[in-house]
Amino acid sequence: MATTATRTDPLSFLGAAMDELRQKGTHFKLRVLESEQSPECTFDGKRVINIASNNYLGLTTHPRLREAALDAIRKYGVGSGAVRTVCGTMRIHMELEEKIARFKNVEACVVFQSGFTANAGTVSAILGKEDFIISDELNHASIIDGARLSRAKILVFRHKDIAHAGQQLASVKDQPGRKLVITDGVFSMDGDIGPLPQLCDLAEKYGAIMMVDDAHSSGVLGRNGRGTVDHFNVHGRVDVQVGTLSKAMGALGGYVCGSRELIDFLYHRARPFLFSTSHPPSVAATCIAALEILEQEPERIERLWENTRFFKKELGTLGFNIGGQNTPASETPITPIIVGDGKLTMEFSRELFKEGILATGIAFPTVPEGKARIRTIMSATHTRPELEQALEVLGRVGKRLGIIQ
Ligand SMILES: *Cc1c(COP(=O)(O)O)cnc(C)c1O
Repeated sequence: MATTATRTDPLSFLGAAMDELRQKGTHFKLRVLESEQSPECTFDGKRVINIASNNYLGLTTHPRLREAALDAIRKYGVGSGAVRTVCGTMRIHMELEEKIARFKNVEACVVFQSGFTANAGTVSAILGKEDFIISDELNHASIIDGARLSRAKILVFRHKDIAHAGQQLASVKDQPGRKLVITDGVFSMDGDIGPLPQLCDLAEKYGAIMMVDDAHSSGVLGRNGRGTVDHFNVHGRVDVQVGTLSKAMGALGGYVCGSRELIDFLYHRARPFLFSTSHPPSVAATCIAALEILEQEPERIERLWENTRFFKKELGTLGFNIGGQNTPASETPITPIIVGDGKLTMEFSRELFKEGILATGIAFPTVPEGKARIRTIMSATHTRPELEQALEVLGRVGKRLGIIQ
């Protein structure tokens, strides 16, 4: 007689891991957006002011971007049907790459499915196991994953510590492998800017490749949002510039800019490019329209910075720890409210939500243990009354929970 053996669930250890998170108070449920992604929106049936999204310029709902997407769908359908190298390269993908290359003033550009795959695919394609990656300790996870996939040796330097980066480079200068110096342009959790000119000096001194991840600077820093290379005027000194189309640009995607040779090489060797289907034409069309908006509506970037200056100043006045010593560490629309304890941070976020403010708590492992925080992000489209209301609630709930006096 056949017996049905009672099978013990081989994934039960995952439940135990989740229990541990519940105990620590950092377990979360996904909040579900039921309206457009905009400064005032509806999550889980509740109307809130959103100070958490990366929608820096309000482009997720821009009428011209919607039209561009719809137009592309009508003309070309909804999918590309293949990876780029098989038969999924559409004219509109090439147009987007050419447009980005002109915007960034470089020879060429390749677009990936996301900023994540742009970083991971590029770092792992250009380096191998004899090589060295000199990387800021706060660099984004996609850089770290790319570095691991490359099997190169990873030498981490303390956050923005040029002397330490120099020591790391010096320690391998006589080794035959290639060296890559890599930094975020804007650090996503603290909102500070990477020291590009000094890192370029080091890369030049040691003959290293220089790479920057401009995910949070695309559309935010530099002329018309050209990024940190433009912000610091280090044109021609950064070999590999990564950017995202998913944040300020309002849609989805990542890109790599550099020499024609670099881009040709990535067309042949970057695994996400070779093995994952290209964007639907509507996404490419949206991104092309977004680039046009950056050039034609620079006032959006001005409003973003006005809101940033106002909000940062008021957060400081309320007495929140917004990072840094005497001056705030953040120099961009990202302003962290450092709480420290993960559980208290998550409680702060939940209480804010109850009072109509969506501000996400971020804890370990996204940020180091003991550095849990609410990360606030400004948008060009927040109105002054919305920001005033957000500040009023932040102050009131912050006091109630003993986060500020
Ligand atoms: C968000 C982010 C990415 C990933 O970009 P996506 O387009 O969302 O995949 C890469 N690097 C940094 C620094 C980021 O903040």
